[in-house]
Amino acid sequence: MKEDIQRLISVQRQTFLSGKTLPYEARIRALEALRSAVLAQETALKEALHQDLGKASGEAYVSEIGMVLKDITYAKKHLKTWMKGERRRTDIGNVPGKSFTSPFPYGVALIMSPWNYPVYLTLAPLVAALSAGNTAIVKPSELSENTSRVLEKMLDEAFAASHVSVIEGGVETAQALLEEPFDHIFFTGSTRVGRIVMEKAARHLTPVTLELGGKSPCIVAADADLDRAAKRIVFGKCINAGQTCVAPDYVLVDRTVEKPFIERMMHHIRAFYGDDPLENDAYGRIVNTHHFKRLHALLEGQTIVTGGENDPERLKIAPTIVTDVDATAPLMQEEIFGPILPVLAFEHLDEAIATIRSKPHPLALYLFTRSKTVIDDVFGRCQFGGGCINDTIMHVANPHLPFGGVGESGMGAYHGKAGFDTFSHLRSIVKKPARFDIPLRYLPLSEKQERRIRKILK
Ligand code: NAD
Repeated sequence: MKEDIQRLISVQRQTFLSGKTLPYEARIRALEALRSAVLAQETALKEALHQDLGKASGEAYVSEIGMVLKDITYAKKHLKTWMKGERRRTDIGNVPGKSFTSPFPYGVALIMSPWNYPVYLTLAPLVAALSAGNTAIVKPSELSENTSRVLEKMLDEAFAASHVSVIEGGVETAQALLEEPFDHIFFTGSTRVGRIVMEKAARHLTPVTLELGGKSPCIVAADADLDRAAKRIVFGKCINAGQTCVAPDYVLVDRTVEKPFIERMMHHIRAFYGDDPLENDAYGRIVNTHHFKRLHALLEGQTIVTGGENDPERLKIAPTIVTDVDATAPLMQEEIFGPILPVLAFEHLDEAIATIRSKPHPLALYLFTRSKTVIDDVFGRCQFGGGCINDTIMHVANPHLPFGGVGESGMGAYHGKAGFDTFSHLRSIVKKPARFDIPLRYLPLSEKQERRIRKILK
């Protein structure tokens, strides 16, 4: 395996060094090839997503395939501007001259993706890598094996291996890839593996983007529109059966509105998925038995308000709300990554903020309130990747916004221009007239010259 990987990297590096991937037209052609491939394989991708995660067709389109197509359209529209770089002001020491940034691709990129949105989280970084003019080796997750197989076939048909190549495999394959000197590594997955990726990358000084997870909180203040808050939290929690990196992990609700808020959530779970969500095809399943058992164990000894029904055969767990959770319970210690939602009541906003600050910085934070004071208080004291006010997960869909974590939820960002920038090195250039010269800069300096420079630099 090692030799195959090394050969592939070498071939891709040759492609990169040949300059073929650099012109605007080549990048547009690559994006168009990707679009055609996705459209041609849409049915196969949907079938695979259904096999791997029980994703319904509509959900597969809205949260995966459609998102990739949208990213391609956005990148094509803005690519020319992004590639130009930006004019910057010129400092007095460089007058006369012009200053600008000049983005240049890193070279051979490695993209490693998880199983929960296996199409989007593999292809969205690829859109960014190709827009920026890189070649890419893609390692999708072994846990979403049907989707990974379709992705491999699809990308193999659409691209020369010297440009884009998929390597399927599990931990061993990932480890073998991480031994090699890539020019950029873009990793989406758990915080645990993120640490391994960064350690391995450090040996080659390879820059990394880490899109990791964490426990993303919701705060529901007393003045929130409770019905809307409940509906949007249920939506964010139940999509992909809670297996979403930005899913609300737990809710902190003002005690004075706890009861009506939970009642509205129960109403919306029924409205979305009926009286028996396990029988509803629009409701996804847990990825495998290991995760099913892990989630089942998290519920042990908990007070279940609604849900809890499950089917080990079909790996389904109904949307489940849990109250009176002990802060030391595993449910409040690890990322849940499933359809279980602990609701914790607070007396004062300070308590909610203290709970969030006691944990590693989350990938997302969702705040439901109408009060600017509450927003300022929470935003002024909590660190988190991104989020929404009065909504959940929708910030991810806005290509005008960078998406990424902070601290244990990751580093770096992508989506839209942020993705292009992530896969580019920004060169800083000062352009001078060839002949015109100011003698003052040249050494050695007389005392008089030094005095003049002191005045300029002070
Ligand atoms: P994971 O970290 O187990 O796996 C991700 C990738 O790493 C896979 O390709 C896998 O093959 C590889 N891998 C696994 N173990 C490895 C090891 N020891 N050494 C090297 N590579 C290894 O993550 P997952 O279970 O697939 O995904 C779930 C996690 O991903 C959750 O924590 C979730 O929050 C996070 N996530 C984050 C985002 C984001 O955008 N920030 C998106 C989706 C998921």
